[in-house]
Amino acid sequence: MSNEPPTDSGLSADGTSGVASDPTARTAAALVVEGITVAYGPAEAVRDLSLSVNAGSLVALIGANGAGKSSTLAAISGLVRPRRGRVLFAGQDVTRWRSSRRVAAGIVQVPEGREILATMTVHENLMLGAWHQAQGFEAGVQEIYQRFPILGERRALLAGSLSGGEQQMLAIARALLAHPRVLLMDEPSMGLAPQIVDEVFAVIERIRKEGTTVLLVEQNAQRALQAADYAYVMETGELVLEGPADELLANPKVVEAYLGESLSGEDGLEGRSFDDGDADAPRRTSG
Ligand code: ATP
Repeated sequence: MSNEPPTDSGLSADGTSGVASDPTARTAAALVVEGITVAYGPAEAVRDLSLSVNAGSLVALIGANGAGKSSTLAAISGLVRPRRGRVLFAGQDVTRWRSSRRVAAGIVQVPEGREILATMTVHENLMLGAWHQAQGFEAGVQEIYQRFPILGERRALLAGSLSGGEQQMLAIARALLAHPRVLLMDEPSMGLAPQIVDEVFAVIERIRKEGTTVLLVEQNAQRALQAADYAYVMETGELVLEGPADELLANPKVVEAYLGESLSGEDGLEGRSFDDGDADAPRRTSG
C-alpha cells in the first residue's frame, strides 16, 4: 500500500499536513504529526515538522546523524513532549498521553541501540515485553519462538551474549509482543553487517506485509528506501523532501546526497537549490 497522500500538495506551504486537515484522509492515516517542534532547553532538535503515515504502509524517515529523526520518534512515542504541534493516532490527539498509554493503544517503539537487558535471558526479556498483557503472554512468547526460531534456540542464554543481529531480532520480537498497530523503529540496521541488515529488513518487510504500519528511522538511506512505500528526508531539524520511496531512490539529488560514495552524513541536501520545474525532483516540503 502506498503512503502517498491523497492530495497532490503533500505538506502545504504553511507546514500543516493536507492529510491531517482532511477528515476522510485522516482515517486512512494511522499516524499524523502536525507541526511539531522538539527542543532540549534552548536547542530545537525538530522544527515545525509534519508527516503522515498511512495505515498498512512502511514509511521511512531518513537523514544524517543529528538531523532530528530520533527526536521525532520520541515525540510520537511520548518519550518527549513536543514544544509545539500535535501527534494524532487513528484520528485521536495523543500529544498529551503518557508513553505507556500510547503503547497500550498500539504505538510501540523499537529503541535505537535495542535496549535489551543484557544480564537477563532471552526468555526473560521476552516475558518482560509481554508483561502488560492480562493473559496469554506465555502463548505470545511461544508464537515469537515459532516466528524467530533462533530466539527459541537461544532462549536460555543471556541476551548480552547474542550477536548484534540476534539482539536486534530480540528487540523487534519484544516490541511485537505489545501488539503494535504502528511500529516505530529507530536505526534497526545500526552496527550490523550487510548480510544481517538484509535479514533484519526481511523481518521488517514481513511485519508490514502482515498489516502492521511501520515508521522506520534510518541512516542507511538506500536500504530504507528500498523497503519503504513513502519517505521523508530530514536535515537539521526540518523536513526537506518527501515522496514515494522509489522516486527518491531514483532521484539523482538524493543519490548524490545520501546514497553516493561520498555519503558521509554531513553532505546533505540543505543549501542545494532545487529547480521547481524539475520533474525529476521529489516534492520539496514546506519552507
Ligand atoms: P542520530 O542518528 O545520531 O540518532 P537523529 O537524526 O536521530 O541522529 P536526534 O538524536 O534526534 O537526531 O538529535 C537531534 C539533535 O538533538 C542533535 O543535535 C542532538 O545532539 C540533540 N539531542 C538529542 N537528544 C538530546 C537530549 N536528550 N538532550 C539534548 N540534546 C539532544
